[in-house]
Amino acid sequence: MKIFPFFASIAILVTALFSSELRFTPEEEAYLQKKKVIKMCIDPHWMPFESFDADGRYIGMTSDYFKGFEKELGIPIKVVKTKSWTESIEAAKSRKCDIYSLAMETPERKEYMNFTTPYLNIPLVLATRMNIAFMDDMRYLKREKIGIVKGYAFNELIRKKYPNIDVVDVKNVNDGLQKVANGELFGFIGTIASIGYALQRDFVGELKIAGKFPERWELGIGVRNDAPLLYTIFEKLVREIPPLEKQKILNKYISVRYEKGHDYQLLIKVLVVVFIVALFGLYHYRKLSKINAELHVLKDALQEQANHDPMTNLYNRRYFYTIANDILNLAHREQKSVSIIMLDIDYFKKINDMYGHAVGDIVIKRLASIMLKNTRKSDVVARIGGEEFAILLPNTNTEGAKKIASKIRELVNDEKIEVDGVISFNFTVSLGVATATQEDEQIDSVLNRADKALYKAKEAGRNKVSVFES
Ligand code: GH3
Ligand code: MG
Ligand code: MG
Repeated sequence: MKIFPFFASIAILVTALFSSELRFTPEEEAYLQKKKVIKMCIDPHWMPFESFDADGRYIGMTSDYFKGFEKELGIPIKVVKTKSWTESIEAAKSRKCDIYSLAMETPERKEYMNFTTPYLNIPLVLATRMNIAFMDDMRYLKREKIGIVKGYAFNELIRKKYPNIDVVDVKNVNDGLQKVANGELFGFIGTIASIGYALQRDFVGELKIAGKFPERWELGIGVRNDAPLLYTIFEKLVREIPPLEKQKILNKYISVRYEKGHDYQLLIKVLVVVFIVALFGLYHYRKLSKINAELHVLKDALQEQANHDPMTNLYNRRYFYTIANDILNLAHREQKSVSIIMLDIDYFKKINDMYGHAVGDIVIKRLASIMLKNTRKSDVVARIGGEEFAILLPNTNTEGAKKIASKIRELVNDEKIEVDGVISFNFTVSLGVATATQEDEQIDSVLNRADKALYKAKEAGRNKVSVFES
């Protein structure tokens, strides 16, 4: 049969299990005799896996599995009619059903259900409108609204693993896809099988599969956790489905649908296209993520450049103002002090005139390095003009700022500039100190006072530290 290999290729991978003679223990046999009927909950809107048809009959792949199980058990399995999966969950919690036909283990469900070895293993995909770019890593989604059927296992798991996704509960696959189609949701997460099935029926040309999750949906039978014997019974049933039987069930199901004249060929065509498109998307995504990574590096470098003075690698004037205002606001809120030192090289014009601009640059760089070495990491040292600098000192009062200023002054005074072993000279700086008060709403006013203090230091003969006094 042609269809099965195709179906396998859309990766509904049936777990390969060994088969052996099915044997229940006497306890298990006795349990079944006493139990008489097993009540089962299914997802009423989950084709091609399971559903109720127009006459309320249980249909879909799992129905065929359970026909087989029923034979082995020797007692009937009664399907509890529910309108939604959420209702099925409620029924399981209140013990109105003993088992789930097809479900995934989650921590929340473990509180009332045990889960057998999975017998279906299905990839999860993201459906979006046609105009959305392909993505394979859902971590790149940015707080997009994405629908998942309420109560589905991966609803819980996706919420935990991808906090970047804004998960919105929807009623069922069609409800979710409808909301994507009308723009209410960015995307919908479901299994490749159920989304593929719904896309071809109701959303051709409108929606597509735009991404694939690394997680797969591994589905087994959920068994109420207060019935350990029932659990071992179903574990045996699941483990002992002959692989050939699984293939036959899938085959039969699909061929029946095909023969009934349902538009299965179109589904196949659509799925083939969807897969090719998804593969292309994957390739495209790989390329994109590489470019993305490069862009990130570039962006960081540009950011770094935008904030720094290229000659000294100190912060520049623009960045200083931004960060200084932030720090000032924080200090006000936390009732901490902030001080500023303004620094200007003395008679710098003369240095330039005497030794040349290049030597002047060396002086500026040397000064930058002295300032950096004698301040804390949390201090902001910036070049705010040609030979003018500002140091912002968080958590520092006037006394502390004055000490730092004096230390820098002394170190500069002692620093000898030597060029090519020929030129050798000293230079000095003048420094003004001011501390922010509660009245300073912006850093400008503090800088002004520090500047005034600096002017006083210059007037007083240079190579001095002056503190602003009101
Ligand atoms: P004062 O003690 O009053 O500050 O005297 P000064 O000579 O330092 O003051 P003034 O503001 O008159 O001169 C500053 C000089 O700094 C003028 C300018 O050419 C020089 N300058 C500004 N930026 C740079 C630079 O990047 N490299 C060099 N080498 N010189 C610079
Ligand atoms: Mg100057
Ligand atoms: Mg100067």
